[in-house]
Amino acid sequence: MRAEIIAVGTELLLGQIVNTNAQFLSQALAELGIDVYYQTVVGDNESRIRQAIETARGRAELLVFTGGLGPTLDDLTRDALAAYLGREQRIHEPTMRKIEERFGGRGATFVESNRRQALLIDGAEPLRNDAGLAVGNALSADGTHYLLLPGPPREMRPMFLSDGSAWLRGLMGPAASLHSVMLRFSGIGESALEDLLIDLIREQTDPTIAPYAKEGEVAIRVSTKAAGAEEAARRLEPALQAIRARAERYLYAEEDIPLEEAVIRQLAQKRLTLALAESCTGGMIATALTAVPGSADVFLGGVVSYCNAVKKRLLGVPPELLEGPGAPGAVSAETAAVMAEGARAAADADLALSVTGVAGPAGSEGKPVGLVYVGLAERGKPARTDKLELSGDREGIRIRATKRSLHLLWL
Ligand code: ATP
Ligand code: MG
Repeated sequence: MRAEIIAVGTELLLGQIVNTNAQFLSQALAELGIDVYYQTVVGDNESRIRQAIETARGRAELLVFTGGLGPTLDDLTRDALAAYLGREQRIHEPTMRKIEERFGGRGATFVESNRRQALLIDGAEPLRNDAGLAVGNALSADGTHYLLLPGPPREMRPMFLSDGSAWLRGLMGPAASLHSVMLRFSGIGESALEDLLIDLIREQTDPTIAPYAKEGEVAIRVSTKAAGAEEAARRLEPALQAIRARAERYLYAEEDIPLEEAVIRQLAQKRLTLALAESCTGGMIATALTAVPGSADVFLGGVVSYCNAVKKRLLGVPPELLEGPGAPGAVSAETAAVMAEGARAAADADLALSVTGVAGPAGSEGKPVGLVYVGLAERGKPARTDKLELSGDREGIRIRATKRSLHLLWL
């Protein structure tokens, strides 16, 4: 089935908000095995919305709308589609009751325009909105399927994932849905991983094996179309085994989670605690770790030791490592090792990671941009370090340094 996503909203055209709904829906539809051929953005204007519908009908069987289901006069998506189809709209009673409850009955505070959020186009099925008031609409007419979703992502996403995707699965029948497994790798670049798997990627048509770049990491999606989860698992397993055999040492998860989440889970399981000493990443590792729910069981804290004075005072890096003729300098294996040991001791953690490097745009200490040392200190053992030569701009180097330091915990 070919689909077109139509995001409605003048704010999108003015560049005031980013069209994250289109990104979400494109991904979610791909996972259902639906091909998105076009994404359209149209302003809050009834005649232009009708034109967009007319154009999309010529090239897709499924039109997925977001935005314009709210109560105000610029919320026109449903009216435009009803007019286009020549259909009436009627009140969806359960939604109407929810709206009345929300406004405490039809008293003084009830704004009549709120009724609009309870409207269904004739023939449409309602899609439950657990995070807001506007009811979603799903209908089929003259060979085209229409899915109308609200604009706010916190309403749109759950509506799509529950009632919306159930409706789509019903349209497609059981055999057509796409099942996939995401394999996540660290400590290897995208092209190196592709080289390892190139014949599989090229020759394999079912399941398909496709590489994806994630921020500072790589992923491989293995997918097949199957009627149910069991049949899918049977079809996916040989391809998964072939990939594992070649790239096991870089594979950290067989689900779509970032490295920091896998690290937190693993350390929590082993009941180990972690501290950090960050220089060029400036707290990015701490940010990544603390974004993971449950990180408090593992991550104790860290030092952002950006200048040498703080490396000395808070982490105990000796001055002779940092300054003077012949000193290794701040960006060195020696300094990375002492930083990790200093952070581990200061936090009394089981483990500590350190990062020190040149993120650019200019070199420092006569060292090139992209030279980064990462260190890992473990209680009762001397620290280990790794020298990295990373490419990219300042942000890219900082992200890669973050991931490569976390990768040390997997070795
Ligand atoms: P409401 O009831 O809030 O008016 P609505 O369904 O009418 O919802 P819009 O009025 O089009 O939706 O948009 C409401 C808000 O939702 C926007 O201000 C914006 O914050 C967010 N939003 C709308 N469309 C998108 C989109 N395509 N991507 C991301 N966010 C969006
Ligand atoms: Mg609105």
